[in-house]
Amino acid sequence: MTVATNVAGSWIDGAAVATSGENHRVIDPATGRVVAEYALATPDDVDAAVAAARRALPDWATATPADRSAVLARLAKLADEHADDLVAEEVSQTGKPVRLAAEFDVPGSVDNIDFFAGAARHLEGKATAEYSGDHTSSIRREAIGVVATITPWNYPLQMAVWKVLPALAAGCSVVIKPAEITPLTTLTLARLAVEAGLPAGVLNVVTGAGHDVGTALAGHRDVDLVTFTGSTPVGRRVMAAAAAHGHRTQLELGGKAPFVVFDDADLDAAIQGAVAGALINTGQDCTAATRAIVARDVYDDFVAGVSEVMGKVVVGDPHDPDTDLGPLISMAHRAKVAGMVERVPGQGGRIVTGGTTPDLPGSFYAPTLIADVAEDSEVYRDEIFGPVLTVRPFTDDDDALRQANDTDYGLAASAWTRDVYRAQRASREIQAGCVWINDHIPIISEMPHGGVGASGFGKDMSDYSLEEYLTVKHVMSDITGVADKEWHRTIFKRR
Ligand code: NAD
Repeated sequence: MTVATNVAGSWIDGAAVATSGENHRVIDPATGRVVAEYALATPDDVDAAVAAARRALPDWATATPADRSAVLARLAKLADEHADDLVAEEVSQTGKPVRLAAEFDVPGSVDNIDFFAGAARHLEGKATAEYSGDHTSSIRREAIGVVATITPWNYPLQMAVWKVLPALAAGCSVVIKPAEITPLTTLTLARLAVEAGLPAGVLNVVTGAGHDVGTALAGHRDVDLVTFTGSTPVGRRVMAAAAAHGHRTQLELGGKAPFVVFDDADLDAAIQGAVAGALINTGQDCTAATRAIVARDVYDDFVAGVSEVMGKVVVGDPHDPDTDLGPLISMAHRAKVAGMVERVPGQGGRIVTGGTTPDLPGSFYAPTLIADVAEDSEVYRDEIFGPVLTVRPFTDDDDALRQANDTDYGLAASAWTRDVYRAQRASREIQAGCVWINDHIPIISEMPHGGVGASGFGKDMSDYSLEEYLTVKHVMSDITGVADKEWHRTIFKRR
């Protein structure tokens, strides 16, 4: 698997553009090797990309749903045909294990593109009718306009697809800024979109740093909606920048998912689910299981079981199909994760396994389990974004659900029980955008993803996300032909 080393970092108006910002290197976090080198975009490139999107908007917004759908269906097919390239790029730039990229990131993205090719033809609203008696009312669903979107590095292709595809299906044009450390698959997506027949300017990519290109895009006067996936603090800055122009935002932010194990749960299933849910993408997943909250009666067995399974996880070269856990995204991120774990003893908690850096060249970190973690400790409260699971016991169901909700975040959660009443109560009372029962992580194109509280608002995936990119226009037509209308008398008695 090889990846081009010299790339144009931006894609504007249907073509690759070699921008003139600072030189930037995409680094393989498993080896430190340079994967690609390019010049970052500048705020001037953001202006050019937004102008291209504005020019392309009218024709794309008024293309028939069938025409838009056909382009997106061709894009899904092309992405599938180029799956091996996309996998190679994703593994090289993120260090994620090849099995994850090949079985989750890329096929999931292809399926999502395919879903929105279909959704483009399923715009919905209230029935046209005479709600007033004297008028016919109808609803028009129209593209919101030019969409600015900013995405993170953890699932570069999936996060791009989740934002770009509903926008394109709705008839919007897009300027996307991927994280500058992982631009490759987003650029490939834009190239394939043009090959699929997407008109020039409908999808533009500007690859630059958050502080200048991200800020310029989020606060651009000539966009109509700003969608963002990333951390909570940056999301709030993006929202503030968009608010300067009164622009609508959609924010998918951080998470700190509870994983609640009741005493009647299938403990083997919960143990395996906890390891998979905590270690997916080396824990760099906004929905990852991070706070296991476990019934006291099964607590010791759960801790022992998770520790045992974590001990068998194969850490190493992400290009090797036998590898389970790749490196963290960078040495700097590893230092942050390691620092949080090192501070555990002073804050309350017991490192059961892990907490170490394997003797490998890249930014690897061992699967880590922290038991008896204190409720006010940093690892329990803050997003770690690493392969680290914390565990706390609970005394009864009220205590379990209280602990599950004792967080500012509300993206995802799971409850493990064989009791249907407990499952129903947990799904009702846990404050999160998604509650899994007896599983943790699976997502599906037909169902929405998005959080509450500090995890943001609005939805990705599913028909719900299409709504984010559409306006609702009410058209009300007089059907009486009467000049002197009865309601006019409320305003003036007689002409
Ligand atoms: P980040 O917030 O640091 O960066 C996200 C994007 O914002 C990047 O493209 C970055 O360049 C850009 N950016 C940075 N500063 C900016 C600014 N001032 N103005 C505009 N843009 C700016 O996040 P990250 O480290 O790339 O990703 C990890 C975070 O993303 C985690 O918090 C994770 O939970 C979250 N995430 C959430 C979801 C979700 O669906 N809720 C999915 C994936 C990741």
